[in-house]
Amino acid sequence: MLPTAVIERAQAEMLDWNGSGMSVMEMSHRGKEYMSIASKAEKDLRDVMSIPDNYKVLFLQGGASSQFAAIPLNLLGEKKSADYINTGMWSKKAIAEAKRYCSVNIAADTSGNGFTTVPTQAELKLNPDAAYVHYTPNETIGGVEFDYIPETGDVPLIADLSSTILSRPIDVSRFGMIYAGAQKNIGPAGLCIVIIREDLLGKASDITPTMFNYATHAENDSMYNTPATYSWYVSGLVFEWIKEQGGLEAMAVVNKRKADKLYAAIDATDFYGSPVAINARSWMNVPFTLANADLDAAFLAGAAERGLATLKGHRSVGGMRASIYNAMPEEGVDALVAWMQEFESSQS
Ligand code: PMP
Repeated sequence: MLPTAVIERAQAEMLDWNGSGMSVMEMSHRGKEYMSIASKAEKDLRDVMSIPDNYKVLFLQGGASSQFAAIPLNLLGEKKSADYINTGMWSKKAIAEAKRYCSVNIAADTSGNGFTTVPTQAELKLNPDAAYVHYTPNETIGGVEFDYIPETGDVPLIADLSSTILSRPIDVSRFGMIYAGAQKNIGPAGLCIVIIREDLLGKASDITPTMFNYATHAENDSMYNTPATYSWYVSGLVFEWIKEQGGLEAMAVVNKRKADKLYAAIDATDFYGSPVAINARSWMNVPFTLANADLDAAFLAGAAERGLATLKGHRSVGGMRASIYNAMPEEGVDALVAWMQEFESSQS
């Protein structure tokens, strides 16, 4: 979901942005109107996330998936090896891509328990000579989330924050680089945000395509080529909306309450179940199963009738998955919990 207020604002500004006589979609990315939109969005994101001055914020295309290749290409430098923590589908994709460019040390791997836990700090087998450590703080498909930020000493920590960015405050200074596809908590698809510490720029290998080189985009304020202008604009509206809600502290309070309610409903009965270890449960993506999977279709059909959409679990894991990103109102979670209880009663 996107916040309704944001979509309404985009609608109101659709044909004529701020008296310019143009839609944002029609603007030159180098015109003064669009430049003001772009720089305000960056400023608001910096404010909202308290991004330190020695980090660049890049507004890129190609999705988070492109960063799986861009990260080794940009960050290996003279090193030959990088550490990866494998906690699910998205880590696996990042690892498979990195293996094309370097030797990958798997610092931890939870596939043995079906990706239902996160490794503890003590379990991480980190290589002090690694170029970087990569992990996925929130695995979107498995609904598995780290409850701590790994300590990696002098080795830069790289986080794929695609499905949890902006859900709560984070200490950006703990990371060498953060990246996130826009289409969850940031804005419409088409944009990927990279937040990178300046000292990590300028080490790209010679074979790095110009468009994959973070330095190219840092030096050109993400305007080396035509950026995803409309996504960037709507993302800026979302950052303003987050500020109006009271910032990330306020988002965190609501998000935690939403997640707690849903997990409480799942845990209250054996009719439903959560595969994920309690300390690793995601605030954003909540997978759950019906004890009798034969009832899945009836559960989903009734949910759809009540306006509860997109609940079918990812094809790789089955069951259900509730996506309760920032823009999902608490009433949405209440409606799901009410339907879960009603459905269970109707079956007994
Ligand atoms: N990483 C994570 C954690 C994701 O959830 C996703 C998308 N669901 C991706 C990477 C891939 O993002 P994109 O589609 O923007 O390439």
